This record gives sequence, C-alpha cells and structure tokens, in this order.
Amino acid sequence: MTGRFALIIDPVAAEEQRSDYADTFTQVDAAAPALSVGELSTQRGDGVFESIGVVDGHAQEVVPHLERLAHSARLCDLPVPNLAQWRQAVDRAAAQLGAGESVIKLILSRGVEHGPTPTAWVTAAPASDFSAVRENGVSVVTLDRGYDLGAAERAPWLLLGAKTLSYAVNMAALREAHRRGADDAIFLSSDGFVLEAPTASLILRFGNGFMTPAPNGGILHGTTQLSVYDYLAAQGFDVGYDRIPATDLAQADAAWLVSSVRLAAAITAVDGESLPIDHALTGELNRYLLSPRD
Ligand code: PLP
Repeated sequence: MTGRFALIIDPVAAEEQRSDYADTFTQVDAAAPALSVGELSTQRGDGVFESIGVVDGHAQEVVPHLERLAHSARLCDLPVPNLAQWRQAVDRAAAQLGAGESVIKLILSRGVEHGPTPTAWVTAAPASDFSAVRENGVSVVTLDRGYDLGAAERAPWLLLGAKTLSYAVNMAALREAHRRGADDAIFLSSDGFVLEAPTASLILRFGNGFMTPAPNGGILHGTTQLSVYDYLAAQGFDVGYDRIPATDLAQADAAWLVSSVRLAAAITAVDGESLPIDHALTGELNRYLLSPRD
C-alpha cells in the first residue's frame, strides 16, 4: 500500500543555494489542513504544476518534468523554481512510495493574495489502475479549442504552452467527450490542425514514421511523447514534429494518447470511425514506459 501525503516546500529557502534542502520540507498527511483559505491556486488557478509517474518507487523522467515546471513558471511570471530543492522533494517523496504505480504532483502557486512568497508543495498518492485502458485503448472525439495555431504567439497571456492549474476547460472537454459517447478528446485548432488531448499528447503512425503536433507554444511538450520518441528512434523508426491537418487523423495507421501516469493508450476510433490498433507496439511502449526512465 502506497501512502498519501504532501511535502510543503519553504519558499524562502528556495532562494538559497545549498546542497541539502531536507529541513525546508514539512511533511503532512494528505487529509491534514495545510493551505491557507487565501491561496490563489485554489481561488484563481493561478499557478503551475506537474504530474510525475512513479513505478516501484522510481520517479520517471524527473528532469524533463522539472524543466517544464520552470518553463511554465517563466510563462506565468512566477519565481523560477529552485530545481535542486524540487528534485530533493521528489526524491524524498519517491523514497516513501512502495511497490506499484504512484503519482507525485509538483505544485507552484502564486501564493496567498498580497503575500510575499509563492506557495509550493509536492503530493504523493497511489495512481489509478490504467491497465484496462492500456490494453483496450480509447475512443476519441475531436473538439474545437477555439484558437488558431497563431494564438500562442499573438496572445501569450493565454498561457497556452504552460501547464497551469486552470484545468477546468480541459475537464469540461473530457465531460463533453463522454457526453458524445467517447472516452477522450483531441483538441483541434480553429484553423483545422490537430493539437493535443486534454491530459495527453498525441502520436500518429504513418507507415514506419511517427508524427506528433509541433509544440510551438500552443500545446504542452509532453515528457512521455519525448521519451517514446527516444525509444522509437533507437528502434530505427523515423520520428518528427509537424503541423498535422485534422483530416490526416483518419489516414493514420495507428495513433496513441500518451501521458505520464496513464502511459500509452491506443486510439480505437476518431469521431466514430475506427482506427487500426497496433496491439504489439502498444504493449511494447507500455513495457518501456513502465521500466525505470531518467
Ligand atoms: N498535454 C496536456 C494538456 C496534458 O495535460 C498532459 C499531461 O497531463 C500532456 C499533454 C502530456 O504530458 P506528459 O507526457 O508530460 O504527462
């Protein structure tokens, strides 16, 4: 049985360069009250986060997650996270997690309204059981995100490339997908290009080549997609990034949604039209994604 707990990170110590931050973490039970009611992360979703998969106590791809946390913080004008301190918090949390799959979340919020410092904490909890979805895949519907591909550059205040705490829109998209009888969604830009899923990146296979939408500011650059690309390239496959017209989805020889905790889920159908499923490669990808990765 893995634990549920949080480590509250001292934001003042985050400004100090030291080798050991152990005394800057306060561990609390997940059920214990720990945040102020004035916390802006809960009032406005004004913060950034990461979800890291943990397998048998090994936190996966910690550096890419920390780098993306820093990238998101920069886009949101939050203080740049002290990555050494966060790394030690992740290691400390992971060391307390037992066998099986868990998830460690990193949260950096603007803090308390008018307060002097951000609030930062790490949570640890058992992961949901995704074995069925890894085995059976997901059906998806395409949903208009309402922005064209140029929106991220034209309107950086939309924070489109940041992993912010404001996931209400993403959760609404998932509910809409369920209303339409699908398991998940793929966002399209208003000018007709494929983007990402509400909580996952998209990878398409065309022959022996793999393609994913270019992370040019409008979508998150997925750590799992990067890791899968490393694996596929090492197997001799071509991998690339591009603008992908929505009409290409139906032409794919196979497709996956990939993310840090659910891992690789084959897409079984897009808008009610079946897509070929590569069961062998899906199994291979999930075995790789469950192996220790740094
Ligand atoms: N895109 C969005 C919008 C996400 O929320 C996520 C993960 O939660 C991803 C992509 C996949 O990112 P990662 O593979 O780093 O989990």
